[in-house]
Amino acid sequence: MAKWIKSINEMKRIIKSYKKNGKTIGFVPTMGYLHEGHISLIRCAKKENDIVIVSIFVNPLQFGENEDLDKYPRDIKRDLTICNNEGVNIVFNPSYEEMYPEDYKTYVVVEDITEGLCGAYRPGHFKGVTTVVTKLFNIVKPDRAYFGKKDYQQYIVIKQMVKDLNMDIEVIGCPIVREHDGLAMSSRNKYLSSEERKSAVSLSKALFHAKNLFEKGETNPLTIKKEIEKIILSYPKVKKIQYIEIIDPKTLKPVSKLKKGDIIALAVFVGDTRLIDNIEL
Ligand code: AMP
Repeated sequence: MAKWIKSINEMKRIIKSYKKNGKTIGFVPTMGYLHEGHISLIRCAKKENDIVIVSIFVNPLQFGENEDLDKYPRDIKRDLTICNNEGVNIVFNPSYEEMYPEDYKTYVVVEDITEGLCGAYRPGHFKGVTTVVTKLFNIVKPDRAYFGKKDYQQYIVIKQMVKDLNMDIEVIGCPIVREHDGLAMSSRNKYLSSEERKSAVSLSKALFHAKNLFEKGETNPLTIKKEIEKIILSYPKVKKIQYIEIIDPKTLKPVSKLKKGDIIALAVFVGDTRLIDNIEL
């Protein structure tokens, strides 16, 4: 049975005893409403560590004012069952007050690489992410932490933070898990109506097509972006494309000519639901 823990002090006590016994700790931070994408991270952590800890915390700090904090899907019972079935040792599920008491004052900011892509449209988002992840790292003290490449910018930002702040944690990026038709799994897919769900496949369809064009020799980012845009906008429930960027995998800066290893990243509103996806060339 996975232990369900809400108190930071209790978490710290248990971590101390794991460490005393020389156990390695793998950590999977999530906002819950777990799906196969999260499960893939848990399985990876399970293979490489003695103990696996999953955190479930919908972090208000990383949501903008007009974003979906209030309606973000939650189902702790179902999440606990999944964690039990996957052999997770601890589910850390603190309250808002536990994480951010009234006199809270400290934030962690990674510069530059947080400014483009999602950062350009979600001011404060990455500050919220790096702050909560730092707090979680300090509580859980993991040897390895697992992040999905679905949120590619987040993964790179966390890696940078860990390096810059000399945290003794190995950050591991795991591949994107997709539905059968290619849609990247996400807790937010729950928002989609059945008609919107059909249009949501546009993101991955366009990305796969773009990769195909690259493999056939196309290296002009403008041409590729136009092709992606054409495909996505051909789906009826697509409301708008927020961005399509072709970036260097390390600097996250736009490239002038595509090369192997570059990332095509995009954010699209299908109905009112903002979906992101990316592909590595
Ligand atoms: P979230 O609960 O959405 O904050 O995600 C928690 C972790 O799961 C993050 O590291 C995400 O990148 C990862 N994740 C979410 N969806 C997927 C997916 N489809 N494939 C792989 N990892 C994912």
